[in-house]
Amino acid sequence: MRFGSAAQKEKYVPEITSGRFAAASYGLSEPHCGSDAAALRTSARRDGNGWILNGSKQWITSGDHAGVIIVWARTETVAGHPSKGISCFLVEGGANGLHVGKHEDKMGLRASTTVPLAFEELRVPGSAMLGGDGQGFSIAMAALDGGRVGIAAQSVGIGTAALNAAVRYAKDRQTFGQPIANYQAIRFMLADAATELEAARLLTLRAAGLKEAGQRFTREASMAKVFASEKANKACDIGVQIHGGYGYIDEFPAERHYRDARVTTIYEGTSEVQRIVIAREVLKE
Ligand SMILES: Cc1cc2nc3c(=O)[nH]c(=O)nc-3n(C[C@H](O)[C@H](O)[C@H](O)COP(=O)(O)OP(=O)(O)OC[C@H]3O[C@@H](n4cnc5c(N)ncnc54)[C@H](O)[C@@H]3O)c2cc1C
Repeated sequence: MRFGSAAQKEKYVPEITSGRFAAASYGLSEPHCGSDAAALRTSARRDGNGWILNGSKQWITSGDHAGVIIVWARTETVAGHPSKGISCFLVEGGANGLHVGKHEDKMGLRASTTVPLAFEELRVPGSAMLGGDGQGFSIAMAALDGGRVGIAAQSVGIGTAALNAAVRYAKDRQTFGQPIANYQAIRFMLADAATELEAARLLTLRAAGLKEAGQRFTREASMAKVFASEKANKACDIGVQIHGGYGYIDEFPAERHYRDARVTTIYEGTSEVQRIVIAREVLKE
């Protein structure tokens, strides 16, 4: 919506928003680089009016059933400036030369598919370029700002599910003749998780509000993402602890929450990368 031409928007947005495309994917990471995205090696070379793509991507969410995949590729090598010369292309699912690898056997989020992709002499027309030639890196970073608000929200959701399950269990489970919810050790864990998740929710809403208002929100998105994902992981850890042995088996949802939350400090930029972004923004002030 933000960088597409009128024709691209008309062609793809209704397919994605109507659900006629089961998914759309974001293809930036490669086997050798995630945080250091500017080191990407997928190449695009001119071929008449179009481009020929070669290379591979790693960890592409829904890449096996996406109707369209945004693929970042190098159109030019600019010595000493790896983030320059990168462009974005809209590659359709099922395109000739697109090879989808096997589903990764993930720790969590097992209902979501994650696949490697390979491009072998994959031809796209000139009209498949999203944004201008060489604009790819700034498009990737802009998309990540928004994505980070999404992962913050996902974290708040998983953390809250874990907290709710822990509250239910604490009221039900009896030890030494009373519900474990009566013990201060348990109550303090619940109090910390509830407080931290509420703060995470507010940081997330703040970042989302700035985005909606069309203001800069890079700093706020990273703050929301790092805080919410780390506090969600803590809430899930507490959730398993409060369930005792039952937290470690799949009869209760606590272990699934714990596994699902784990990736939130990793994807759409690790916690370390969020701190790099926040520090850069803070030092600008
Ligand atoms: C389930 C899942 C789904 C994903 N979906 C997608 C997707 O749809 N599209 C896509 O493009 N990518 C996707 N990713 C990739 C994801 O964004 C990357 O895994 C993530 O950005 C981290 O990159 P990396 O794995 O290469 O780790 P690396 O960059 O190799 O980092 C390894 C470790 O080093 C640390 N590190 C790296 N650089 C620094 C530094 N400068 N200072 C301090 N610490 C540093 C990192 O924080 C991390 O702890 C997905 C990943 C997963 C696991």
